[in-house]
Amino acid sequence: MKPFEFNAVGVIESPYKQKFAIPRQPGLIPEAKGALVLSPPYADDAIVRGIESFSHLWLVFVFHETADKGWSPLVRPPRLGGNDKKGVFATRATFRPNPIGLSVVKLEGVERRGDKLVLNLSGIDLLDGTPVLDIKPYLPYADALPQANGGFADAAPQTDMTVSFSEQALAFCQAQQQLPDLQVFIEKVLKQDPRPPYKKQREEQQSYGMTLYNFNIKWTVDGNHNYVSEIRLQKAHTATSAKNAG
Ligand code: SAH
Repeated sequence: MKPFEFNAVGVIESPYKQKFAIPRQPGLIPEAKGALVLSPPYADDAIVRGIESFSHLWLVFVFHETADKGWSPLVRPPRLGGNDKKGVFATRATFRPNPIGLSVVKLEGVERRGDKLVLNLSGIDLLDGTPVLDIKPYLPYADALPQANGGFADAAPQTDMTVSFSEQALAFCQAQQQLPDLQVFIEKVLKQDPRPPYKKQREEQQSYGMTLYNFNIKWTVDGNHNYVSEIRLQKAHTATSAKNAG
């Protein structure tokens, strides 16, 4: 069969600037706010007429960051501690025959930004810059299946991780008035324990860093406690999307 070719209809603006620390599914962190930016010819008011009556949308997108990394028939879902293998079609792994992702997200509103049309979203699990191929409204009567069997991922992942902030980190969060949820957001990102499974078994204290918005965040993990030691503004030349931070 002839290969298909699709153009992105829009691009995601997200606080998640790298794969590390992104939740494994949407909806787990409602404070993860982002946007889908539609450019011409898709930035047409007609194209989204009626969309605001839906609370949630399905996004079909490309795992663009890892698209050229290939795939294998068997993957190790992080959910199973990295020890057990499942068929790629039995998982939501990013390394797939076609690197296509599917996320249900909350629609917070629609606004115009010059010649662009912006769908404001929350609860996203998407990397900044993710190309979106299609948007469909979420239909509760057809899509919500509370009796469905969730296999080896039957409930949202739980951890017993706790989080605290240094005075500097706390003051930094409080100073970001345009992001009133920043501290809670960071807390929830760390509570899901983004470390790779093999590091979770380590006894000794470990130090990590990540970028959310244009902030560099440093923390240490000791047992089940995360201590956010420092948050700094990313240097201007490396900031990928300073506009997200307002
Ligand atoms: N809800 C989607 C994504 C599940 S995998 C689906 O089921 O298809 C979730 C992981 O996708 C996240 O942990 C993140 O690291 C990764 N991810 C998000 N956007 C990505 C992108 N543009 N390219 C590569 N990986 C991405």
